[in-house]
Amino acid sequence: MHEMSIAESLVELIEEAGRNQRFLRVRQIRVKLGALGHVEPEALRFCFDAVSQGTIAESAELDLEMVAGEGWCASCSRTVPISERYDLCPVCGQDHVRMTAGDELRLAELEVE
Ligand SMILES: [Zn+2]
Repeated sequence: MHEMSIAESLVELIEEAGRNQRFLRVRQIRVKLGALGHVEPEALRFCFDAVSQGTIAESAELDLEMVAGEGWCASCSRTVPISERYDLCPVCGQDHVRMTAGDELRLAELEVE
């Protein structure tokens, strides 16, 4: 499953941060999640709970911040909202839109103790 490998790499990142910054417990994890990234938030939560068992991230709260899709339309020379990666421009209707935001998955913040 796609979400499982994402959850695994999140836990790896957190454990690495724990080793470097010497914290023992993570209370909250804030992740920026692009709306166009095809990651199911509930599935990611479920996988994260499973793979974080026995790690410093165990029972941490996963706070997912959704990032809306956005693209640059070469015809309009402006930034437009998009709901799919290859969406047509909602302003001029042409397919000259290059996605600029919406497929990220980034560890934004850790609350630790
Ligand atoms: Zn346009």
